[in-house]
Amino acid sequence: MSLSAYATPSPALQKEVSRRRSFAIISHPDAGKTTLTEKFLLYGGALNLAGSVTARKNQRSTTSDWMELEKQRGISVSSTVLQFEYKDCVVNILDTPGHKDFSEDTYRVLTAVDAAVMVVDAGKGIEAQTRKLFEVCRRRGVPIFTFMNKLDRPARPTLDLLDELESVLGIAAFPVNWPLGDGPRFKGVYDRENKKVHLFERTVHGSFRAPVNVSGIEDESVKNTVDEITYSQVCDELELLEGAGADFDVEEVLAGRLTPVFFGSAANNFGVQLLLDRFLELSPPPIPRESEQHPVHPASKEFSAFVFKIQANMNPKHRDRIAFIRIVSGQFERDMNVFNTRTGDNVRLANSQRLFARDRETVDDAFAGDVVGLVGNYDLLIGDTLASSPEVKFDEIPRFPPECFSYLTNKSTAKYKRFRDGLQQLLKEGVASEFQLLDSSGPSSSVLLGAVGPLQFEVLQHRLQGEYAAETRIESADWSIARWLKPKEGDPQAPDARPALSLGTALARDSNNWLVALFPSDWAMKTFSEKNEDWIISEQPFAP
Ligand code: GDP
Repeated sequence: MSLSAYATPSPALQKEVSRRRSFAIISHPDAGKTTLTEKFLLYGGALNLAGSVTARKNQRSTTSDWMELEKQRGISVSSTVLQFEYKDCVVNILDTPGHKDFSEDTYRVLTAVDAAVMVVDAGKGIEAQTRKLFEVCRRRGVPIFTFMNKLDRPARPTLDLLDELESVLGIAAFPVNWPLGDGPRFKGVYDRENKKVHLFERTVHGSFRAPVNVSGIEDESVKNTVDEITYSQVCDELELLEGAGADFDVEEVLAGRLTPVFFGSAANNFGVQLLLDRFLELSPPPIPRESEQHPVHPASKEFSAFVFKIQANMNPKHRDRIAFIRIVSGQFERDMNVFNTRTGDNVRLANSQRLFARDRETVDDAFAGDVVGLVGNYDLLIGDTLASSPEVKFDEIPRFPPECFSYLTNKSTAKYKRFRDGLQQLLKEGVASEFQLLDSSGPSSSVLLGAVGPLQFEVLQHRLQGEYAAETRIESADWSIARWLKPKEGDPQAPDARPALSLGTALARDSNNWLVALFPSDWAMKTFSEKNEDWIISEQPFAP
C-alpha cells in the first residue's frame, strides 16, 4: 500500500469523522471540572442523575486499593474517557489527572485531544495548575474554550477576569456571553451574539436541566429580575465591549490564539448548555496529524492510532492491562489486524473496550477521534503506533527528563518475581524509568529509578504493594538532572566510549542502552559540558 493513501480522505468516513469532538476539560483542582463533566453528560443523556460521576468517583476509590491513595491525597490519579452522543455529535471527553506530580500522565492525555475546555473559578481567577495545563495545550496549538465557573459565589470583576486571561496566559479573550451579577445577585447571562438574556432559575443542586428564560436586555422581565446597580453596570460594560472589544474570529480560535469565554455555574446548571452547544459548533473535528513520513488525514480509509496511556489493574478483580489508543485515521473494527510499527509485529485487536467510569462495553467499531481501550497483553508501549501500514509512525508523546532519583529495594527475596513483574509493568505504564549505574552501585540489590516528581515513587511503591504484594523500600538519591549522551563521532553505544566526569556525576544506561549522565547540580552539569565538547548532551532521551 502506498503511504499517500493516508493523505486522502474517503467520503464515506468523512461524515463520521466530522461529527467527532474529542477534548479534555482542564482546571486547577476544585475549580469544577468534575461537576462540569457531569453536567455535560447530563445534557448528553448519558446520565439520568446528576451526581453519578461523583458517586462513581467515590465508589472507585473504595473498591481499588490503588485508588485508596487517590482518596488519601484527594487527587485523581487515573484518567477516564467518556463518550456520549449529543445532537449530531459524538463527544469524547478525556479526563486528565489534576495533581502537579502527575503532569507526565496529563501531558500524554493532552496529546490525544483536539480541543480543551478550561474551567476557571471566577472567584479565584487563573491558578497555578490551570496555567501549566494551558501551556501544554497552547504548545500543541489546540483551541481553548474558557468557562468562568461559580458565578453564584462572589466573583472577581468580569473585566478583570478577561484581562487576566490576556495578561497572565497571553491569549486574547472574547466573551461570548456576559454575566448579570455575581454571588446572590447572579441572575443569568447575556448572549452577545444573539443579543438575548438567559435568566436562570436556581435548581435544587442541578438535579434537572435548568429552565431557561430567554428575552432581550430591554425586556421588563430582565429589568425586574436584575437589581438596578447590576443592570446599569452590565449595560455600561456591554457598551464598552461593543466599542473596544476584540472581534470574534473563528480562525483565531482554531489557531489557539483567541479563547471564547463563557460564564456560569456548573453546580447550578447555569450556562452549561450555552457552553456545550457553542463549543460543539466551534471546536474542530479531528484534523490531519503529522506522522514521521506523511500527513495522515483522519478520514483516510487506512487505519492508524497511537497509544497515549497504559494502565494496569484498573479492576482489582481482573488482573488486566489496558492500553488506550487515540484513533488518528480510518475506522477501527474489532478483531482487525494491524502493525505495531515500532516492532513490526502484526497484532489482532481483539479485546476492545470503551469505558464509562468503571463500567465497560465492547467496542465493535470506532472512528478517528475516538479513544478505545485495548484490554490484554499486546506488548504495547506508550507512544506506539498501530496502523494498517508498517511504515506509519506518530511522534506525539513528549518525553520528559527525570528530575528525581530513588533507589527501590525489594524487601523480601521470596517475592522477588512479583517485585520484578510488577516493576516491569509499572515501568511500561511510564510511572518512572529505570537506570543501570555503570561504575558505582546503589544499596545492594536495588534498582535506580528516575521520575519527574517524587510522588510518582510513592505511587509506584503503593501499587507494588497493593497489586503485586511486593513490599519495597525507597531511598532517595542525590542527583537532580539527567542528560543523554552520545559521542559526536564513532559508535554512540560502544561500551568503551566514556566522557570525562565532573564531581558528583554518575554514568548510567537507560532501558534503551543509551548512556546517561546524572548530575547533582547545574554547576556539575556545566563543568561536565565544558570538559566534553566532543559529546552531544541532550535533554531528551534518544529514540530507541
Ligand atoms: P474539580 O476538582 O475541578 O473536579 O472540582 P469539582 O467539580 O469536584 O468541584 C469542586 C467543588 O466546587 C465541589 O464542592 C463542587 O460542588 C463545587 N462547585 C462546582 N461548581 C460550582 C458552582 O458553580 N458553584 C459553587 N458554589 N460550587 C461549585
